Amino acid sequence: MDSDNRQTGRAANLMDKLSALCKRRGFIFQSSEIYGGLNGFWDYGPAGAQLKQNIRNAWWREYVRNGHTGPENQKYDIVGLDAAIIMHPSIWKTSGHTESFSDPMVDCRKCKQRFRADQLPSAGCPVGGNHDFTEAREFNLMFRTSVGPVENDTSIAYLRPETAQAIFVQYQNVLTVSRTKIPFGIAQIGKAFRNEINPRNYTFRSREFEMMEIEFFIHPGTGEMWHKYWLDNRLKWYESIGLPREKLFIEWHASEDLAHYASACADVTFQFPFGVQELEGIANRGDFDLTQHARATGKIPPYFDPETKERFMPHVIEPSAGVDRIALALLTNAYHEETVSDGKGGEEIRYVMRFHPGIAPVTVAVFPLLRNRPELVARAEAIFEMLRSDYLVQWDDRGNIGKRYRYQDELGTPWCITVDFETLGQEDAKLKDTVTLRDRDTMIQERVRIEDLTAIIRDRLSAF
Ligand code: ATP
Repeated sequence: MDSDNRQTGRAANLMDKLSALCKRRGFIFQSSEIYGGLNGFWDYGPAGAQLKQNIRNAWWREYVRNGHTGPENQKYDIVGLDAAIIMHPSIWKTSGHTESFSDPMVDCRKCKQRFRADQLPSAGCPVGGNHDFTEAREFNLMFRTSVGPVENDTSIAYLRPETAQAIFVQYQNVLTVSRTKIPFGIAQIGKAFRNEINPRNYTFRSREFEMMEIEFFIHPGTGEMWHKYWLDNRLKWYESIGLPREKLFIEWHASEDLAHYASACADVTFQFPFGVQELEGIANRGDFDLTQHARATGKIPPYFDPETKERFMPHVIEPSAGVDRIALALLTNAYHEETVSDGKGGEEIRYVMRFHPGIAPVTVAVFPLLRNRPELVARAEAIFEMLRSDYLVQWDDRGNIGKRYRYQDELGTPWCITVDFETLGQEDAKLKDTVTLRDRDTMIQERVRIEDLTAIIRDRLSAF
């Protein structure tokens, strides 16, 4: 086995273990599992749905809610949009997707499987020896559907393959209502669909996924400066949700690989177990999209700058990220196995998801030591209710405390609180109204006062 294969084997093994954990702890399930699944589609269970919600919230809070200052001290706003998934089919003609949103595809004549011509499999044909590929053909990735009761050529519509076009076609409406001026951005989070030829690497390449996109409208001639600004800005955001800088990279597209509309494009990539792969594309799109839609509709006039009195079509920088890929990056980065004492003189493996506490699906878990002692349960319930409005809190009273800790480790819960007999003051009066606070990473348990819990958790969260 050469080193590359060993690497691939290790990565596959790690991804198998991660997907088993994701299923057992409710992060990710196969879509339609009880019907045998559907390739390229995934469902998020309670923990995964909350993780994705935390990613969306972190992004929306940072870009739509918070104020900003860009290069040269320029203040700017970003406003939100939530557009329909199915739009007028002419939009996709104008944007070029109907014509050219495609991948080259080949079929193997022996095993009948279909592959992307630029991503041929390293493994041989299961029917025997080498694959026997057809010539490459272009395959349009847009899912087609039909709108209305009659299915014919005029009823054809598409599930959007990106959220960006909706921003361009609503640009004029948003500009009119927002009292904003250039530079400014429009942000949108929503589902996108691509009929990928080979969905793979768990959720990395799916057929239904979610995007978080900003179209940032700027003055012509400032593209390079803002492109650089957005690259730095997005890297910092990834670090803020707990992805380490050393696993993040910027990869520039060579000019011959650029999409027809882009004057520069760089990807933010991440060191996944299966290789360094794209998390986000950040393109300098010039005025391509607005100009195309303006020509096609006559409804997008040039922007009038009230200060300089110039008229121009704004240029655009587009940071375009995938929520599911960010979730997968967080999951692969959080996954740790360590050997710990089993408390009986032996050793066991502890699986622990080391999420940044601000992005973890559960911030604090609260346990009564025993579920059949009403006085413990009542105190624990009061703490649970007290913390609930500020933090993501989970209740657990099953099994023994050691098992509950292991369960929360696998969910990535940074802190666990246990109410025991000392809380009730039955063993030592000094310990009355205290609980144990257990840390996920150090496994240290400390005694803290109930009245201090909210502040302690707040301080530890902000220290991260
Ligand atoms: P790739 O080269 O991986 O197919 P792309 O360059 O076509 O991706 P973009 O069109 O730039 O991707 O999409 C922006 C972002 O949307 C990507 O960086 C990624 O996070 C996400 N994304 C795109 N395609 C998929 C997919 N099939 N599954 C999950 N996320 C995706």
